Amino acid sequence: MLKVGLTGGIGAGKSTVSRVLADLGAVIVDADVIAREVVEPGTPGLAALVDAFGDGVLHPDGTLNRPALAAAAFASDESRLLLNSILHPLIGQRTLELVDGAPADAIVVQDIPLLVEGRMGPAFNLVIVVYVEEAERLRRLVELRGMPETDARARIAAQATDEQRRAAADVWLDNNGTPDELEAQVRALVADRLLPFDRNLRDGVVVPGPPILRPADPAWAAQGRRLVDRLRAVCGEQALRVDHVGSTAVPGLDARDIVDVQITVADLDTADALSGPLTAAGFPLIPGETFDLPKPEYGAGGETDPALWAKRAHGGADPGRPVHIDLRVDGNPGQRFALLLRDWLRADDVVRAEFLDVKQRAGAEAAAVAHDTAASAQAYTDTTAPWFDRGYRRAWEWAEATGWSPGE
Ligand code: ADP
Repeated sequence: MLKVGLTGGIGAGKSTVSRVLADLGAVIVDADVIAREVVEPGTPGLAALVDAFGDGVLHPDGTLNRPALAAAAFASDESRLLLNSILHPLIGQRTLELVDGAPADAIVVQDIPLLVEGRMGPAFNLVIVVYVEEAERLRRLVELRGMPETDARARIAAQATDEQRRAAADVWLDNNGTPDELEAQVRALVADRLLPFDRNLRDGVVVPGPPILRPADPAWAAQGRRLVDRLRAVCGEQALRVDHVGSTAVPGLDARDIVDVQITVADLDTADALSGPLTAAGFPLIPGETFDLPKPEYGAGGETDPALWAKRAHGGADPGRPVHIDLRVDGNPGQRFALLLRDWLRADDVVRAEFLDVKQRAGAEAAAVAHDTAASAQAYTDTTAPWFDRGYRRAWEWAEATGWSPGE
């Protein structure tokens, strides 16, 4: 089951998108509908509200008087917390029932207006944000939905900013054009990304990253942050730290379009225990990849012992975002070097240029045998390995000279 979060500012077109998704077979779970459902007459939710805030929150016909409830609940922080403590568990439970009730091969789309405000993104395999420029949203709310302009402005001002939404968006649907244009984008998204993502997730298939180098993409940083947040949500306390590492974590460095993340664990048993949850979350295990290439011994660590370079690796099932995840043991040389290399490359322009040159040569070698995926990957590794051997030593010299330590 692929779990998709759908959000956007009020008037951006969420309802329009969710209608198209429903037409294409997705199961829609609408947060606004649930929020109304749990306080309908006769529900324990409505009874709890009357208990907490009195009969004044009811209309004469016994239905909820929303303005009266708002006035009572927003009178103080305490009463607002009380309201949330009543509604949130009921909404959460009903949401869970609906999601769990969907077929195993369903794409479940949760339409949540306040997804970004509630920082709920990491709970989903993918977050879709629908976007329309503010002036046009205002026009649509007032002219098409008949909302008073002052209300529309106040609602927009109370929500997250476009920048906050962009940071949370795996998919950005621009709805400044016509409804037909929006529908075409949604259809393409389902066919090219959601359906294959769902299949890969169920079959444990890893999407390979493209072998060619791409110009540095400023979007990689935010993609790394979203991946780190998702992996933190999956691993919980089993992850001692989760870091965006590798070339896409170095601003301005051309790279293969693969977001690398390292999950630091206390031991390999923990890594093995995380294999199931990670695979179920859309990050399938790569069974054959259990060691890094040991680097030459440096310092007193005896780091050529292959056991110190053991790891576990996972990939990603999302065809729209190739990722590579290494689980390494805290304090092991490979774990420390992943963090060190990133910081060294970030700090030193000359090393970065030198590394880029090696990667370009490796990319050319790999491209020459691109028809054979395994040979191509091997060619890349063969070309970069000597640089890494020397680089390992030099990076540690830099670390000693600068007093480097892995940050928070
Ligand atoms: P949301 O659910 O995000 O609040 P809606 O889907 O209800 O937003 O869209 C707001 C209004 O704009 C609705 O009246 C809708 O029919 C209309 N609308 C949606 N997309 C477009 C579009 N591309 N062009 C013109 N009107 C649109």
